[in-house]
Amino acid sequence: MSKRDYYEVLDVERGASDKEIKRAYRRMAMKYHPDRNPDDKAAEEQFKEVNEAFEILSDPQKRSAYDQYGHAGVDPNMGGHGGFGGAGNFGDIFGDVFGDIFGGGGGGARANAAQRGSDLRYSLDLSLEEAVRGTNKEIRIPTLVECKSCLGSGAKKGTKPSTCGTCAGHGQVRMQQGFFSVQQTCPDCRGKGKIVKDPCRDCHGEGLVKEYKTLAVKIPAGVDTGDRIRLAGEGEAGMNGGPAGDLYVQVEVSEHPIFQRDGKHLYCDVPISFVDAALGGELEVPTLDGRVKLKIPAETQTGKLFRLRGKGVTPVRGGSTGDLMCRVTVETPVNLTKRQKELLEELQETFESEGHSKQSPKKASFFDGVKKFFDDMTG
Ligand SMILES: [Zn+2]
Ligand SMILES: [Zn+2]
Repeated sequence: MSKRDYYEVLDVERGASDKEIKRAYRRMAMKYHPDRNPDDKAAEEQFKEVNEAFEILSDPQKRSAYDQYGHAGVDPNMGGHGGFGGAGNFGDIFGDVFGDIFGGGGGGARANAAQRGSDLRYSLDLSLEEAVRGTNKEIRIPTLVECKSCLGSGAKKGTKPSTCGTCAGHGQVRMQQGFFSVQQTCPDCRGKGKIVKDPCRDCHGEGLVKEYKTLAVKIPAGVDTGDRIRLAGEGEAGMNGGPAGDLYVQVEVSEHPIFQRDGKHLYCDVPISFVDAALGGELEVPTLDGRVKLKIPAETQTGKLFRLRGKGVTPVRGGSTGDLMCRVTVETPVNLTKRQKELLEELQETFESEGHSKQSPKKASFFDGVKKFFDDMTG
């Protein structure tokens, strides 16, 4: 039985945030949903796989078991007793066995040990203008913070958590398991070493509460999709006095209706009339700082790039400012009046009298090539 990596199934990185996993799951589930893929066995299998991956990766305990031990850490068929619930225990069993043999490593978190809070990631959508010029943004993020009512103990006001009798506060109990005497997370206190008899009403005994906080984020000019801004200590609260994690604000620049960005350069498509293209002229083209005039020389062909120096983006990590490239497209005239058609026909006749090749050298050489191609084939 070869199972695909769960991160691969959801197409996310190993360090993906909960939000990213949720988003990836939604995308994948939509794609493979049976309603959208009737009678498609392959899609049905994919859908099951996606659901399974999400079940594991959306649960912090199962995810960490999976990160450490792979499929063996979360496979219900290998746990012996009772489905996914055993995942945590399983990790501990492996951790302790290997820990004993190889010395150190592995093992569940020790009771009362200070633990650093998790890093959080926040995806921030910016317009191109905001990304190029920089801006100040306020973001609202959910985070787990120490419960103010019980100061993190989880016990109701005026009471204290008591030492767990089952494990005497160690958080682990020894159990005989086949040949091994192994340690397991204490089933009564779930490894905390303490029992809360009277749970705090605000945090239901967890010691942490979910809270939204608003943060001001300064976005420097020149950022691009994929850039991260680190806000130290703004991640999840630590446990047992451990430091808080960091918050990473991940920039995503939205598509712009006029400009496409490629690193420090901007691109924009400018349609021009075939008369301007032939005779040359002056155009007004957009830049992020307003309109500028662009001179088009006579005999300009479609696809020609005009470079406006310094009208691109100044990179956030320094360096010279990029350029704006205007790509012209010659527009074939439409909705011609009778008179206009007559004029064009007249023009066409003058071309023909000169044998075409003069006004349309590309066309002439192309058809010469075509003629030679067929001559060679038949001759
Ligand atoms: Zn509380
Ligand atoms: Zn206990």
